[in-house]
Amino acid sequence: MPEVTAVPIGADRVTTDDEIVVSSPYDGSEVGRVPSCDAGHVDRAVAAARGRLAEPLPAHARAVILDRAAALLAERQEDFARTIAAEAAKPLKTARVEAARAVDTFRFSAVEARSLTGDMVPLEASAPGEGKLGFTLRVPIGVVGAISPFNFPLNLVAHKVAPAIAAGCPVVLKPASQTPLSALALATLLLDECGLPPGWLNVVTGSGGAVGDPLVLHEDVAMITFTGSPPVGWSIRAKAPRKKVSLELGNNSPVIVEADGDWRTAAAKLKLAGFSHAGQSCISSQRIYVHRSIHDDFVAELVDQVATLVVGPPLDESTDVSALISAGDTNRVKEWIDEAIEGGAKVAIGGEVGDDGVLRPTVLTGVQPEMKVCADEVFGPLVGVTAYDELDEALALANDTRYGLQAAVFTARLDVALAAARRLDYGGVLVNEVPTWRADQQPYGGLRDSGNTREGPHYTVREMTEARLVVLS
Ligand code: NAP
Repeated sequence: MPEVTAVPIGADRVTTDDEIVVSSPYDGSEVGRVPSCDAGHVDRAVAAARGRLAEPLPAHARAVILDRAAALLAERQEDFARTIAAEAAKPLKTARVEAARAVDTFRFSAVEARSLTGDMVPLEASAPGEGKLGFTLRVPIGVVGAISPFNFPLNLVAHKVAPAIAAGCPVVLKPASQTPLSALALATLLLDECGLPPGWLNVVTGSGGAVGDPLVLHEDVAMITFTGSPPVGWSIRAKAPRKKVSLELGNNSPVIVEADGDWRTAAAKLKLAGFSHAGQSCISSQRIYVHRSIHDDFVAELVDQVATLVVGPPLDESTDVSALISAGDTNRVKEWIDEAIEGGAKVAIGGEVGDDGVLRPTVLTGVQPEMKVCADEVFGPLVGVTAYDELDEALALANDTRYGLQAAVFTARLDVALAAARRLDYGGVLVNEVPTWRADQQPYGGLRDSGNTREGPHYTVREMTEARLVVLS
């Protein structure tokens, strides 16, 4: 039986009488156990973190810790990939990419620790400021409460913890209940091998109600950084009106494929972009708008590509697509497919759940805006294709959503690329690349229901620090 992984709270490694069993979403086998924390553990964790604010670590020391973490993560990439695959059913190939990206997230955070500065304020530009010198210091905001989702159990934890260390903020982390093991392995690496002193990173494992709510409501937590679903994210925002709350939420990413665009490349990229981790990425390509003149050729090419995806156990080297995070999610996506079919959509490939319980990669055509597979975030191995006649129509369809994270267009025309960049109402617009593409140093985040912030070490460190004005007279 796997051992219980204790959680770090201050200088202690804490276990509880009750344990949470972490099971593989693929076959239900036990992959680990973690403590079942409660509000008392949150209090201890916040107190430990708060205590650290009185003993700040200098920037050079923070940078060295982050560099060490990057180096060790690079060395242990395979171990981390296997943990991600086991707890999230993320195919090993995809999990390796996530583990490699986490290295980058730490490297870029080390750069931020070394270069964080405030601004000069031109006080002499007004008569009252004459003779005075003004500048800002970037001051740590305080204790950061970090809440992370299941779908990137390592790199999205890294996107919160590494910038917080760079900014000088102690953290209390609540990882997703389904995927706490990657987060705990990262915490252990930072505390035991990288020189991060106890109390700078504390982890509380447990449900949203048991530990998430007490963390959000705790008066000594200055900021909540949350990645997850829109309903939970916005409810946190409402519960903590006086805290800074940064939200990275969902999307139903659109891709426009123009007749002059390289649609074969688009289809080849969509093979990964719609189906990587079975579509469980916040920027999974979901709504594909294709010019009517190439629609049939494009669909045939996409179906050929999707047919080559290997479905199987997450830890198999050949697997491209594995199980969704829960049987409930498999049933939900299957119901949405059935609803679309009843409404007139056609299955070009997939649409069924196999004997292994895994939903097959699915391409639907004739998808309409009001169908759930179009209007909502599917978070499953499904793309829906819709034909259009004019670019204006495609841009309007792409913008017809309450989400706004990333969108994309494939075109050979510069004027179309620029029109898309100006008119697609999203946090990021990609040209001749899928909306699923992300580099860890870019400003990443959405509009409307997709969130209220930009993540990426440079941007996150600014969110986690306050500008303190200093005036020398
Ligand atoms: P989720 O159900 O919203 O859970 C996210 C985190 O919130 C988990 O740790 C969860 O804990 C916790 N939580 C639940 N209820 C809470 C409460 N009342 N108070 C505090 N915390 C609470 O999301 P998910 O299913 O893990 O992740 C999928 C969603 O994340 C999708 O919508 C996806 O688009 C989005 N996402 C966005 C980005 C981005 O950067 N924009 C990246 C990845 C994923 P439990 O696990 O214990 O329930």
